[in-house]
Amino acid sequence: MAKPADTRTAGRKPAAKATAQATRSSAETEKIRAALAARRDELRAEYDQTLSEITELQRDRLTDSAGDDQADTGTKTFEREQEISLANNIRERITQVERALERLDEGGYGWCERCGNPIPVERLAAFPSATLCVTCKQLAERR
Ligand SMILES: [Zn+2]
Repeated sequence: MAKPADTRTAGRKPAAKATAQATRSSAETEKIRAALAARRDELRAEYDQTLSEITELQRDRLTDSAGDDQADTGTKTFEREQEISLANNIRERITQVERALERLDEGGYGWCERCGNPIPVERLAAFPSATLCVTCKQLAERR
């Protein structure tokens, strides 16, 4: 039996009005810290893996380059460059997360630059460099 579904839009909750200055509970701060730390560990593991892939590619280049024609060499060089730029990219993201953790300690992290509301923990965990809440981000993108 299907439930009547057309009541969903009618009973929409009014948005909670943010009157007092927005604060974040220490429990929430801890949650953000944990999320950021987990993210950093994840990125570090990814970084290590990429580095060992680079090492492997280099080893391949040294060991079985005897029978390579120019195309093989070109492909390997390209792969290696790809890996290196990936590694640099990951390192950049690690730095972002570390900076975020520092700012979190100073109390200046996780607030929307535009509306001043706290940015949800999940969003910060996914995008540690986020400076806008989802709503403001969407508004900014629409322009
Ligand atoms: Zn906002």
